[in-house]
Amino acid sequence: MPSRPRTVAPETLGPTITIGEILVEIMATTVGAGFLEPQSLTGPYPSGAPAIFIDQVARLDGAAGIIAGVGNDDFGRLNVERLRRDGVDVSAIAISADWPTGSAFVRYRQDGARDFVFNIARSAAGQIALTPAAETLVQRAGHVHVMGTALSIPGAREVVLYAIETVRARGGSVSLDPNLRKELLTDGDALKSFDKVLAAADLLLPSGDELFTAAGITDEASAVARLLERGIGEIVLKRGEQGASFFTHDLARVNCAAFAVDEIDPTGAGDCFGATYLTCRRKGMAPGAALLHANAAGARNVTRLGPMEGVSTLAELTAFIAETPRR
Ligand code: ATP
Ligand code: MG
Repeated sequence: MPSRPRTVAPETLGPTITIGEILVEIMATTVGAGFLEPQSLTGPYPSGAPAIFIDQVARLDGAAGIIAGVGNDDFGRLNVERLRRDGVDVSAIAISADWPTGSAFVRYRQDGARDFVFNIARSAAGQIALTPAAETLVQRAGHVHVMGTALSIPGAREVVLYAIETVRARGGSVSLDPNLRKELLTDGDALKSFDKVLAAADLLLPSGDELFTAAGITDEASAVARLLERGIGEIVLKRGEQGASFFTHDLARVNCAAFAVDEIDPTGAGDCFGATYLTCRRKGMAPGAALLHANAAGARNVTRLGPMEGVSTLAELTAFIAETPRR
């Protein structure tokens, strides 16, 4: 028997929070395989999947907070100032005297695949812990969004599990973007905590094969059916330049064609997409309309260089939807 479908809690219950890495991103300016020879780079840009996500929530006027860590350096200041300016509660970002801000170097291959060099575990991002400021933020939150990338940080895993328990106990909800990165999947504990988050999720936002990884089945319809049976209320599948689809128990599947844009930098599209879908739903928008806005946010983001440079306000999304053709 399917369990009761779950949905996301309204905004009145408290802010959307996330936990995880704040990074600077430094991008190769040429396409190719990795970083095995000297090459030109551009950056630093504010980044980290949880940071991009929460910045997009705040730009849509959703109450938003992040539990994270940066170093006492320019990479940290650049990020904290951006988040603060965009309206994110930065009170639970710890500033470390001992560890530098994390970083990600990224280079695109010809086929669109990405190679990363991450410095997360041995950066301030790797030191995330349940500080008093983090506890205060969790206790007033209405929704926890979990980025799979954060589960590779041991301290963040503990905060995530604490936040899920606390927020659900007060009637709040949970979403999960698996965001699996081959470079970060090195740890059995990360996979164990992934399963715990999946079991608690009301909304799942996978992209591509992450749907199959989450369900343990490699056919789309069966994977969706299994996850819905397990009690996930809504599944929104991201399909890159093919758009996205929405699935739930008792409503027909909704497909949303992608907007036709010139892709400059795809990093961050999924994070802006997820933040927009969630925030629109928490504001009471119906799934189909939230999906359209999320597609617009993802598409708008890929037209800007830098993962956090293309976050959108609601007015920008409305204008973009009105003027941009679909694929
Ligand atoms: P990432 O983890 O790199 O941030 P993702 O794999 O989680 O990305 P994508 O499927 O790449 O997520 O992108 C999310 C959404 O953004 C897509 O479902 C689509 O709506 C939109 N999008 C992404 N790329 C494009 C594109 N080239 N053209 C139009 N829309 C796009
Ligand atoms: Mg993703």
